[in-house]
Amino acid sequence: MRLGILPCQGACNVGNMTSKVALKYVDNERINMVCALGLPLGIENIIKMAKINDKFIALNGCPIKCASKTLDKIGITEYEEIVLTSDFGIEKNKNFKDESNMDKVEQKVEEIIKSFFHDQI
Ligand code: SF4
Repeated sequence: MRLGILPCQGACNVGNMTSKVALKYVDNERINMVCALGLPLGIENIIKMAKINDKFIALNGCPIKCASKTLDKIGITEYEEIVLTSDFGIEKNKNFKDESNMDKVEQKVEEIIKSFFHDQI
């Protein structure tokens, strides 16, 4: 079983946090990074690589939900959706180094990973 994490990677604190959180868990075996740009551009190989995963986490910085929309666009509907601003009360700003409440996001991602892999993380 494989899990794909798609961080929106937006140009703001919450967008950057999605990348930082994803990098913490990606191991290129069971947990894979999914390319936020390649999918909406329709790049065949990237879509094929994304689809090797059985389930996904859409890590969205804000309610615009670019990560979720990207998965929707290629017909992937089996995903857990996380929105950093509304789920954790993190305010969006332009300080890319801001990691306030990032630990809460990590906790949530860890919960999803544990439930997907039946407690093995
Ligand atoms: S979801 Fe929000 S933070 Fe992420 S890329 Fe889209 S607009 Fe930017």
